[in-house]
Amino acid sequence: MKKFTGLFSIFAFIFFFFASLADAQLNFYFVNVGQGDATYIELPNGKNALIDGGPTNRLINDFLNSKNVTHIDHVVLTHPHSDHYIGLKKVFKTRTVSNFYDSRVENIAAKGDNTLREQANAQRACKTHFPKIGEKLNWDPSVDVKVLNTCETPFETRNNSKLNNCSIVLKITYNGTTVMMMGDAEMPAEAEILKRFPNELKSYALKAGHHGSDTASSEAFLAKVQPKVAILSFGANNKYGHPDYDALMRLQKYGAQLFATQAETQTLFLPAPGKRSNAEQPQIKAYHPNEQLMFDFGIEQPVEVSIPMLTDEQKTKTKKNKIIKDIKKFGSDQENISEQLQLF
Ligand SMILES: [Zn+2]
Repeated sequence: MKKFTGLFSIFAFIFFFFASLADAQLNFYFVNVGQGDATYIELPNGKNALIDGGPTNRLINDFLNSKNVTHIDHVVLTHPHSDHYIGLKKVFKTRTVSNFYDSRVENIAAKGDNTLREQANAQRACKTHFPKIGEKLNWDPSVDVKVLNTCETPFETRNNSKLNNCSIVLKITYNGTTVMMMGDAEMPAEAEILKRFPNELKSYALKAGHHGSDTASSEAFLAKVQPKVAILSFGANNKYGHPDYDALMRLQKYGAQLFATQAETQTLFLPAPGKRSNAEQPQIKAYHPNEQLMFDFGIEQPVEVSIPMLTDEQKTKTKKNKIIKDIKKFGSDQENISEQLQLF
């Protein structure tokens, strides 16, 4: 009898284990990391992923601490710019990582990206991957993770647009719903993706490229993606003027509801197959800081827009002022300053 009970417990455990997997959601957290990018993903199989780490140590690590994350299965560096990799350095310092996904582009204007790559190599259990375009990443059997863009062959540059266009772009599909993660891919990368994958781009959600800059989210691309939801990752009052008014207008024109990370982390939960009837739509937590000011300007009859629209001259002045202030403030942090000047 005792043996029977033991066997029964094992079967019960297996049953409930798989039942719970079938119930599992795919969760995206578009983390408020200031002027940068970081997306934390909880996969239905219990594993996790982090796409970029934002521009500072603190914010992404505070977020991961709040979720008691000590290990990450998949870390992606979309491209080697400081607003994407700096936060990852602390992640590698304080947590174990199983897989690191990187492009083959080297940012010769920065040293920190290579420090990060060395950290990934130094973790003995961590494997570095350089995924190819069209490759599917083996994250979870129930989730399709396809690479739509990256730079597969080694090259060096200090040109910011070229670096952006090397971004690892991921199309993540679960239970019939797709989320497109663009990194900082700009219009040239979008055009390449359109050429290669013209008939498989339709997505429920688009993590808009390059922080909502005007250099990304082209009409042609949006016409194929047709996002219902667009997530924009940027810091309040940033010196780059992100997001760009015209880019937001284009996103809205193609039907996207806009969500921003500037004041709060945004979440997007994709329901498990069994839950589909209960939760017909993926759930996104709506939080629109300054909604009236920033996003509620409609398409049919645009109202007065209060997005601070700066002239090029004003933008240049703002950037210079910010950098001079930073040099005064962070004078000793040479790496950080030189990277900021490169961005400028
Ligand atoms: Zn960026």
